[in-house]
Amino acid sequence: MFFADEFADEPMEIRIHDILTKSAANGPGNRYVVWFQGCSLACRDCFNPATHDFNDGRILSVEEIMEDIRRQDNHISGLTISGGEPLQQPAALLALAAQGAFELVERLIVPKGLRL
Ligand code: SF4
Repeated sequence: MFFADEFADEPMEIRIHDILTKSAANGPGNRYVVWFQGCSLACRDCFNPATHDFNDGRILSVEEIMEDIRRQDNHISGLTISGGEPLQQPAALLALAAQGAFELVERLIVPKGLRL
């Protein structure tokens, strides 16, 4: 497996706010966008307060998301991960970013403008 051994024996789950399978507004090209649910940073003028509650949203496994990405038939040019604050689900973020990069994604964009 591509990511750390301690994650390999059980499905990695992510609390998700929303998913958009095709977006031209969240990075270069057609992006598959995953918004993580949950953020405690309380930035002034937050643009997405609906993503703050860690008890809201829905739970999906990394594998379920990867299966959905594979169903897009190469119509996407990259994966964008947003939130919420994905860094507050660090193991899930690492697993999704690593698996996405390993399988099919040419570029990843994560919040705060950091590009992997
Ligand atoms: S969702 Fe983003 S903008 Fe809003 S408080 Fe969290 S980090 Fe700040």
